[in-house]
Amino acid sequence: MGPDDWQATLDLALSDRGVVLAGIGIHPFALAGWPEREDAAVLQQLEALLGAPQAPVAIVGECGLDARFVEAIPLSRQRALLDAQLALAQTYRLPIVLHCVRAQDPLLDLLQSFPDIRGLLFHAFGGSLEQARALLRWDAAFSFGGSLTLPSKKRRALVRGLPADRILVETDAPNGPPIRGQDSASNATAAQRIDPASLPAIVATLAAVREESAELWAERSTRNAQAFFGTM
Ligand SMILES: [Zn+2]
Repeated sequence: MGPDDWQATLDLALSDRGVVLAGIGIHPFALAGWPEREDAAVLQQLEALLGAPQAPVAIVGECGLDARFVEAIPLSRQRALLDAQLALAQTYRLPIVLHCVRAQDPLLDLLQSFPDIRGLLFHAFGGSLEQARALLRWDAAFSFGGSLTLPSKKRRALVRGLPADRILVETDAPNGPPIRGQDSASNATAAQRIDPASLPAIVATLAAVREESAELWAERSTRNAQAFFGTM
């Protein structure tokens, strides 16, 4: 997600007003697409779209830090871009969707400069329950997708330990990890592309991890998302 995708994203939200919420931002992966000296101009372009009176922008992001790519894209550059986007989210009072891979501590560090920011959504959060608890100081929310269906004690402990109203579900389609069935003999299942129809399976897994009913979590995850994105 970078400048090349912004117009198409906004067009989609315009064509389906009230159904599709547009988020535009600068993902760390996108930074390979232009030299660092152009970062300020790209940020200006983003701010122009966020501030445009008729723009259907509801979310800043996805943006964040990814420590797997620091050789190609130094963390210092990623941090500068994220810092600027957090400031934009705060200025325009928009929620921000955060991508954070192996960089929970640097991100937590960066957030110290934004003590009053709200509306942080950590998607596909891979950190520990302890790191997530530190983020609750900002009332952060966390969304989980296909990775929840993979066996991971750490992720399950995280999902069990978070307050119920801070949990959302997502697919991260088309790139999110696929759903694994209970009988995961089927590599066919694993090879399937994830899409919105995968949500009931994610909700069912979430409910099982929390030892609550799928119906409860279908309703609760919807309510949490509506509250988070302000679409009640
Ligand atoms: Zn991501």
